[in-house]
Amino acid sequence: MHDESDDNQTGSNRADSCQLLRLQYILSMKKLATHTLGCRLNQFETEKIASRIEPYDFARVEFDEQADLYVINTCTVTHKADATCRQVISNVARRKGSAKLVVVGCYVESDRQRVADLAGVDLVIGNREKNKATELMSQMWPKLFAKRTEPACASGSSGVADFYQRSRAWLKISDGCNQRCSFCIIPTVRGPLRNNSAANVIRDINQMATAGYHEVVLTGVHIGHFKDSSCDVGSLTDLLKMILAETDLSRLRLSSLEPQVVTEDIISFMSENTQRVCRYLHLPLQSGSDAILSAMRRPYDRARYLKVITSLKAALPGITIGGDVIVGFPGETDEDSARTCEIAESGAMDYLHVFTYSDRAGTNATAITEKCDPKDVARRHKRLRKISRARLLEAHKRAIGSTVTAISENQQAETGRWWGVTDNYLRVLLPDGIGGNKEIQTVFADSIKDDYLVAGPISVNTVSTSSRVSISESGQSNIASA
Ligand code: SF4
Repeated sequence: MHDESDDNQTGSNRADSCQLLRLQYILSMKKLATHTLGCRLNQFETEKIASRIEPYDFARVEFDEQADLYVINTCTVTHKADATCRQVISNVARRKGSAKLVVVGCYVESDRQRVADLAGVDLVIGNREKNKATELMSQMWPKLFAKRTEPACASGSSGVADFYQRSRAWLKISDGCNQRCSFCIIPTVRGPLRNNSAANVIRDINQMATAGYHEVVLTGVHIGHFKDSSCDVGSLTDLLKMILAETDLSRLRLSSLEPQVVTEDIISFMSENTQRVCRYLHLPLQSGSDAILSAMRRPYDRARYLKVITSLKAALPGITIGGDVIVGFPGETDEDSARTCEIAESGAMDYLHVFTYSDRAGTNATAITEKCDPKDVARRHKRLRKISRARLLEAHKRAIGSTVTAISENQQAETGRWWGVTDNYLRVLLPDGIGGNKEIQTVFADSIKDDYLVAGPISVNTVSTSSRVSISESGQSNIASA
């Protein structure tokens, strides 16, 4: 007679042996550690490379742990970036033992031989070869890349690029740039502008949303020039409309946009879709002096930049705007730098990334002989960083007393509390016990500590962006589906 308890017993034995197989499989996996320097585009590309290595029985570990394979994705935007890359490479080289060290990306593209000659580097892969990075590694180390058969019950892969320990996803929609600003090496190391297809973008976002990501950040070098002639997508705005129509993504974020491509179309689109499109833009200014902008070959002047910001702020209350500025461009005077400070202090931007100019071989600006005194550059840099901190504090102050929606990003070492990123890109320290997943949390910002907004203990909810939250006078949160 058929005994149900036998079935249960058999089922539980099967589950146990499956778990054992899975455990054995996980314990025997090789270890992959990655490190990214530079921009979000690089972060996306690191994840892409890692997602192609992982099927060869590799498990991701932290970069400071012992691994079998280290991949460092580099940046070469300034001399300082090159030096940081060399430092990271030499740190790994000292501790890696018999592990393999692969260096990829922009620094390889700009100075391949120097990178290849660094102690401990086993393989270099430039940007043009990034797409076949796994093939190059597996050809070089067939044993390391030998694949075992994964137990069927151990498979949990969705096939979607997983963003290691990250709760927000990035998606590269284009690569390269045709603009050739006089200081910039990016068009040389990344090549001309190439757009992904709109269909691929939609497919990837749908996969990311299915994998649980609520936010996707669109990245690229010059995403404002997106178009896809194979379908009816003639501009970035067309692509954004398509994403909202054809995916269920809760939160879409644009990364950096060149000021001249921020059209009335994009601004109206963003203002009409604040439930799903983040109130945030990063608009590189580079200099507040028209003379320097022209020498940099930037296709706008300060008046145009300020006009764009005024339109954005009028249409999108609460928007956070970041900006890049370069100090010490050849020929920059104290007056030029004062023009940059004037814009920064006016409150146009809410924070700045301040870069120090450095000559990059092959760029036009290297030929300008009138270099700045490093002491002047250091002084200007310090002043702009100070302004940036003050502007960010003002942005935080404006957010106090409001509900904000945040996705947790990382844990504070000292308190163990999670902090998250709001739709308008402010950091908020979440209440105890909240965070550590990909969900959108709605919290009440009630104070500021250091560089964070601090969320109070009330009105904490995990909601989709299709819900509204309001705070009643008693301090209770009310959630209603829209
Ligand atoms: S737009 Fe200018 S600064 Fe930006 S990547 Fe292209 S050349 Fe470089």
